[in-house]
Amino acid sequence: MVEQGKNKKRISILGSTGSIGVSTLDVIRLHPDLYEVIALSAHTNVEKMQLQCLEFMPAYAVMVDADAATRLEMCLKNTPAEITRVLAGTEALEFIASFPDVDYVMAAIVGAAGLLSTLAAAKARKRVLLANKEALVMSGKIFMDVVHENNIELLPIDSEHNAIFQCLPQVGGKHGVERILLTGSGGPFRTRAIDTLDRVTPAEAIAHPNWDMGQKISIDSATMMNKGLEIIEACWLFDISLDQLQVVVHPQSTIHSMVSYSDGSVIAQLGNPDMRTPIAHSLAWPKRMTSGVDPLDFFAIESLVFEEPNLERFPCLRLAQEAHQAGGNATIALNAANEIAVDAFLAKKIRFTDIPLLIECAMSDVSSGTPSIVEDILIQDRASRETSELWLKNYRY
Ligand code: NAD
Ligand code: MG
Repeated sequence: MVEQGKNKKRISILGSTGSIGVSTLDVIRLHPDLYEVIALSAHTNVEKMQLQCLEFMPAYAVMVDADAATRLEMCLKNTPAEITRVLAGTEALEFIASFPDVDYVMAAIVGAAGLLSTLAAAKARKRVLLANKEALVMSGKIFMDVVHENNIELLPIDSEHNAIFQCLPQVGGKHGVERILLTGSGGPFRTRAIDTLDRVTPAEAIAHPNWDMGQKISIDSATMMNKGLEIIEACWLFDISLDQLQVVVHPQSTIHSMVSYSDGSVIAQLGNPDMRTPIAHSLAWPKRMTSGVDPLDFFAIESLVFEEPNLERFPCLRLAQEAHQAGGNATIALNAANEIAVDAFLAKKIRFTDIPLLIECAMSDVSSGTPSIVEDILIQDRASRETSELWLKNYRY
């Protein structure tokens, strides 16, 4: 149990209306004596934001979309949440990420849209609870340099990275660590005939067997691009090379990742597949607290299965590895093209199997190297989005 105290930790939640944002508020709701919500943000979802403001009474609520901000302000008028200041636009995200009265920032915006606010939180020396893996994929070296220079607490929310964090030595660096074993469920198409993958629908791809998540990460799990992004995320977070990491397909999602040591020991973190566990861990760290997640019932587990990933079935996994080897421009292209491809697939403009083709095209269009300033990351991101849009324009279904 975390000690109860008068000094509550004050939190900004970037992306509070999403799957991670809602789970974060679920955990905070269990511990009103420990945490205070200072700011919330969303893109357009006024209805959910209104309810969150009424319950948590934050000092600030950001709606990135200006019309949505106006609507939220009207909805909160003459209610107890009238005290909440409604802000609009992307700069407001950076404001609440670096606000002096905030201790912890949950970075849970999806995609490249979360990059600048996540960086702003690290620069402002907040404890960063990192769910937004795309930010790290885009800005790896720059982001980790900010983390180290400012000596900030960076806690991984992604369940695998949170598991690895828990399994690594807590003192003495990475002494004796041989390999990181990054597990992944294999998603809904792990056993489906490969020659039928060009016909899968967005609804089938979103239906993840174990996890209930936002749309984009659900499609990423079906292509295993999610694991590809996570490989890059792990290399940056834990300062390891690609050959120190092995992806292990584990369909039950009971083990959330493992660390293998030179003496033959393998340490794994297990639990029910529920993001409230890594969220509670990162909020309470280095202590522990309840998350609302049921304990694992070992007698209900029939078997634990492990497989090698099939790169023919999941070409996105190969593309992510190639991108990480090629450098920052390539990982920015990989991420940008993937975001465009996922949107196009969800809108039924391209087939599921076209997603890696579009990404490969964007990756072949970049020069080698890694941006050393954020402005150059944004330039590469825009260029890769233009290449991807052009590919889509010339595409025939
Ligand atoms: P989601 O789609 O459910 O929620 C996304 C949030 O970001 C929403 O609050 C939305 O309003 C906000 N948002 C969307 N576009 C925006 C924009 N352009 N500008 C500002 N805000 C915007 O996504 P999610 O599943 O909660 O995932 C969030 C992040 O966490 C992703 O990076 C994902 O990879 C990562 N993650 C999620 C899970 C999960 O279980 N959902 C697990 C591990 C990691
Ligand atoms: Mg994950």
